[in-house]
Amino acid sequence: MIRQFFSYYKPHKRLFVIDFSSAVIVAMLELAFPIAVQWLIDDLLPDGNWNLIVTVAIILFAVYLLSTFLHYVVSYLGHKLGINIETDMRQELFTHVQRQSFRFFDNTKTGHIMSRITNDLFDIGELAHHGPEDVFIAIMTFTGAFWIMFTVNPTLALIALVMVPLLVALVTYCNMAMNKAWHQMYGRIADVNARVEDAVSGVRVVQSFTNEEFEIDRFKKDNNLFRKAKLKAYKVMAGTHSSIYMMTRLLTLVILVVGAWLSFNGKLSYGELVSFVLYTNVLIKPIDKISAILELYPKGMAGFRRFRSLLDVDPDVKDAKDAVEAGALTGNIEFKQVDFSYDRYKQVLSNINLEIYPGETVAFVGPSGAGKTTICSLIPRFYDIDDGVITIDGLDIRKMTKHSLRSQIGIVQQDVFLFTGTVRENIAYGKRNATEEEIVEAAKRAHLHEVIEQLPDGYDTQIGERGLKLSGGQKQRMAIARTFLKNPPILILDEATSALDTETERLIQRSLDDLSVNRTTLVIAHRLATIRNADRIVVVTQEGIAEQGSYKELLDKDGIFARLHKIQYEEN
Ligand code: ADP
Ligand code: MG
Repeated sequence: MIRQFFSYYKPHKRLFVIDFSSAVIVAMLELAFPIAVQWLIDDLLPDGNWNLIVTVAIILFAVYLLSTFLHYVVSYLGHKLGINIETDMRQELFTHVQRQSFRFFDNTKTGHIMSRITNDLFDIGELAHHGPEDVFIAIMTFTGAFWIMFTVNPTLALIALVMVPLLVALVTYCNMAMNKAWHQMYGRIADVNARVEDAVSGVRVVQSFTNEEFEIDRFKKDNNLFRKAKLKAYKVMAGTHSSIYMMTRLLTLVILVVGAWLSFNGKLSYGELVSFVLYTNVLIKPIDKISAILELYPKGMAGFRRFRSLLDVDPDVKDAKDAVEAGALTGNIEFKQVDFSYDRYKQVLSNINLEIYPGETVAFVGPSGAGKTTICSLIPRFYDIDDGVITIDGLDIRKMTKHSLRSQIGIVQQDVFLFTGTVRENIAYGKRNATEEEIVEAAKRAHLHEVIEQLPDGYDTQIGERGLKLSGGQKQRMAIARTFLKNPPILILDEATSALDTETERLIQRSLDDLSVNRTTLVIAHRLATIRNADRIVVVTQEGIAEQGSYKELLDKDGIFARLHKIQYEEN
């Protein structure tokens, strides 16, 4: 895990080296300062040479200037290193998530992915910046200060050293308490987030049941629990800071008293005493630093572990090693003894055999949950089958590259997803290098052009959160226009009009009919009236494919289809 963590430093080696060596120089200067003071007091003061003291002051000033500059370098480059590593990781994670298969998104909450990509990486970035640098500097200053103290006066150095374990024990104890408090605080903020997410995305339900007060009350409880948890963390933090403060002052005081006594007995010069007191402070700093790292490390590492565990999820649908580019397909789709299940609890499809001919329009009907959508999502390999084979134009779809397969399949579903951006950009999502003429042509064929012309900014009108709201029918037309642009030989229409009223459906139906000309088309339909002209109707039930034939054949057969038909017409 640690080795994996360090591998992220590799691209930023130069930055790391500059930052790290500047930090080392700063630490060395800090170590040298008390020596200079001691020399000033013991050797220069008794001489009474004013000029020499002025010279020393000038040299010290130069050293301070250098040290200030290096402080700046360490702070800026250190943070740069951290943010660079954080950015690399974020990019890697986004790339990885974007390539995941549908199964991954079935099983992973969007909120979790979001917090992995944002929050968790903040902590990792901080650790990447402070971790190695601060630990090294702390160890260096601590041993350096102690070594110098020991050479000056072993007795006094040992007294300081005896106090140190007490300090370390205190810091460690406080840190454990702090970790626990932060951990609880993070749990509480997650609860608050979940409440907000529910209450905001479900606000229509909340208000239609007039449950606003109830939600406000629930939120108040969680909000208060969060306040308590955070307050507790701050309390522990305040306790930690003040007890460390007390311990360090105590250490200084002991050194001062014992040092004074040694000095009375002629075993310590004044300069040495002053430098000892100064070194006590140098000694304390690394302990503070280490305690900060102890706080950062578990947070950052926990984040890194979660980050890696997401990266370790291998997309289960990927290109085979010997995958080939599928040439232009005609759309002769064949299912041979296909078995499929989403999870091991339930077999969704078993032994499906079906051939669809190039250019044919095949409609799938049947009760909801029978597996119609599933059958269609197997063709673009959104999921891989468990057994059997699916071929297009005689070639196993698992032997084609995902890109060459999916770029030849167009899908229009019930829900249309529009991206934040202009109308033009949303249509061009079907073919990102489309020309203006192509976009307008696609909009015309989807019977959308006139609508767009009426918009305040035409094709440049913004859609989405702060932009235009489109009606259900208009959204469907956008999806149809996209697909016209994509111009795929295979088309899947999954209840594309089911959410629309009958009037709008009839209007959209014309566009869909145009779209399916010269393409192999699979239509999943809820209203049977819309599939009257299909070349073939396949009736899917929980048991598999129950019947198939033309509209008339199936009515004459007086089976499941005829029964569905009767129910729908009695309803209307
Ligand atoms: P239809 O489109 O005919 O209504 P589906 O193909 O959507 O039916 O669903 C077939 C069965 O598979 C149902 O039992 C449904 O609960 C299940 N199912 C559909 N999608 C998923 C999924 N992503 N994960 C697990 N089970 C699913
Ligand atoms: Mg469905």
